[in-house]
Amino acid sequence: MDEFELIRRYFTRELIDADVRIGIGDDGAVMRPTTGRDLVAVMDTLVEGVHFPVDLGAADIGWRAVAVNLSDIAAMAATPRWMTLALTLREANPDWLQDFSSGLFAAAEEHSISLVGGDTTRGQQNIISIQICGDVDPDFILTRAGARVGDLICVSGTLGDAAAGLNLLQSNSVMLDADNDLIRRFRRPNARVSLAQTIAPHASAAIDISDGLYGDIQKLLRASDTGGRIELDSIPLSSTLVEQFGLDRAQQFALGGGDDYELCFTLPAGSEALLSEFSQQHTVRISCIGVVTDNHKLICTRQGEPFNYVDQGYHHFGASGS
Ligand code: ADP
Ligand code: MG
Repeated sequence: MDEFELIRRYFTRELIDADVRIGIGDDGAVMRPTTGRDLVAVMDTLVEGVHFPVDLGAADIGWRAVAVNLSDIAAMAATPRWMTLALTLREANPDWLQDFSSGLFAAAEEHSISLVGGDTTRGQQNIISIQICGDVDPDFILTRAGARVGDLICVSGTLGDAAAGLNLLQSNSVMLDADNDLIRRFRRPNARVSLAQTIAPHASAAIDISDGLYGDIQKLLRASDTGGRIELDSIPLSSTLVEQFGLDRAQQFALGGGDDYELCFTLPAGSEALLSEFSQQHTVRISCIGVVTDNHKLICTRQGEPFNYVDQGYHHFGASGS
């Protein structure tokens, strides 16, 4: 199977979006943007052995590759439209490709995204890069900058589950296909695309939580030139996580673990009532975990008392990364 056959067989689907003028097969893809909307581009790469264990199923890899990009799209309050795929593979294994493309298209179809092009190469290691283009209402773009002193710091869903799931896999204590909610959270993340669009007119800033809550809040606060205080006991944890790991480790996973793909956003002081509105509309937990301050630091408390947290979030080229 040469690369053209591979692309035809696994990645070429009937186009359902009339705004895709030219899709896979030419030198470039051509899309027609919607008048009055701004374009948003995001890109994320998954490297085998770095972003997922080498034995993760191909369908899960395909799903994740789309989902992690959707999380960035969500953080901008954008609507995903089109994607391109750069695939570097050790070999062209038909079973792997079939599963990978089915996972990839399953995630894409949930948001009506079309795959419009890409690049296919052979290499020493499987590497999957996806770029998603979306559009956004120019009046309601969410960014990391914009949080103001006194704003509420809020998060969606529960945190730490996926990191704990990955920990179970890495310690070989649970198999990949186990009936385990934590492992499922790692294998099949769901980005908060529609929730983000609901909060966008109200929120002052937002970031998606992909590298660990503590580090990601810090990025938001730095971009907003502010500081913050978060209360450990307000961080939303699933009962499964607490039951399997105990409260202390659960909180560590939530603060420092990655792969949550939830949203962290700030709301003006006094908008507590919005939390239950958002929550009901999207059937997702929304929690207020702290407040934006003016001291340019992120401080943790536990039941109101100072809590010294040392962040070990993942950095590719940093002291704790590889
Ligand atoms: P070129 O040599 O002009 O870069 P290619 O032969 O690499 O073109 O690709 C042929 C067509 O297939 C292009 O439209 C390209 O966007 C598309 N394509 C290549 N690889 C992929 C892929 N992994 N997924 C989707 N489309 C792809
Ligand atoms: Mg060309």
